[in-house]
Amino acid sequence: MAPALTTDERPSRSRDGVRDDRGARGRTPIPGDAPEEPDGPDGPGGPDGGGDAEAGDAARTVRARTEPMAVYALRDDDQYLVDTEGGTYVVDLGSETCTCPDHAIRGNHCKHLRRVDMAVGIGRVPAPGERVAACAVCGSGVFVPARETGAFLCGDHRPAVGSFVRDRETDELLVVTGIRATRADEYRTKDGKRISDYETNADYGVHEPVIEAVYVGNAPASPGPLDVSGRKRYGFPASRLRRLDPGERPGTPVIGI
Ligand SMILES: [Zn+2]
Ligand SMILES: [Zn+2]
Repeated sequence: MAPALTTDERPSRSRDGVRDDRGARGRTPIPGDAPEEPDGPDGPGGPDGGGDAEAGDAARTVRARTEPMAVYALRDDDQYLVDTEGGTYVVDLGSETCTCPDHAIRGNHCKHLRRVDMAVGIGRVPAPGERVAACAVCGSGVFVPARETGAFLCGDHRPAVGSFVRDRETDELLVVTGIRATRADEYRTKDGKRISDYETNADYGVHEPVIEAVYVGNAPASPGPLDVSGRKRYGFPASRLRRLDPGERPGTPVIGI
C-alpha cells in the first residue's frame, strides 16, 4: 500500500521554512514551583535593598532568584500571576509592569518582574506570545505560538527537518522535509484523501500532526550530499516515522529540502 502523497503546494511551504519555524519549538515546560516559606522579611512592599539604586537592583535580583514565588502564565497575552507569601501580583512582560508597591508606587523593576523573566528563560512558563499545548504523541507540555492551532510535538517526538527517519510499517529510510500543525484526519493528499484514511496509517493517532518526508532508498550511496529536491513528498502521522539513534544515522548531508 503506497503511502499518501502530499499536495503540490505543501512542499513549497515546507521549503520556505516559515511554517516550521513558527510551529512547536520542542521547548518542554518545567512544572511550576510553589512558595515554601514566607516572603522576605521586608516583603514585596518593603524597602528593597535600600541605599543606592544599583545596590537595590542587585538585591532585587537575588530575591527574585532565592525567595519562594510561584509563577503562573495567565491566558491574557504577556501576563503572569506571581504568588508569594507576602501577596499575589500580576506581572505584565509586554509593558514591564507589576501590581506590587515596589513597582506601582516606587517605579522599580521589582523582584516579581525579574522572577518572571527568569521563569521564562528556563522554560518554566511560556514566553509572551506562547501557550502550553500537549504533545500529540506523549501528552507532555510543549510551548507553541499562542495563536497557532492544530497538533504539536514535544522535543522528543519532533524530528528535525532534514533528518533521517524510518517508516515503522516498511522499515524504509526517509528524510523529513516538513512538519505540519495539521492533524492526520484533516490533512488531505492530492487526491483529496485524508492521511488517517490510508489503511497503513490505521495504527497511528488521527490527532497526530503530519510529517512530510521523501524516500531516499536504504543506503544513500554517493559520497557527496544527498539532493532531495526532485523527490515526491509523502505525508505520515508523526509516530509512524521512527527517529534514528546516533549510530543508525547516515552521515550524508542532505540538501534540496
Ligand atoms: Zn512586583
Ligand atoms: Zn512527546
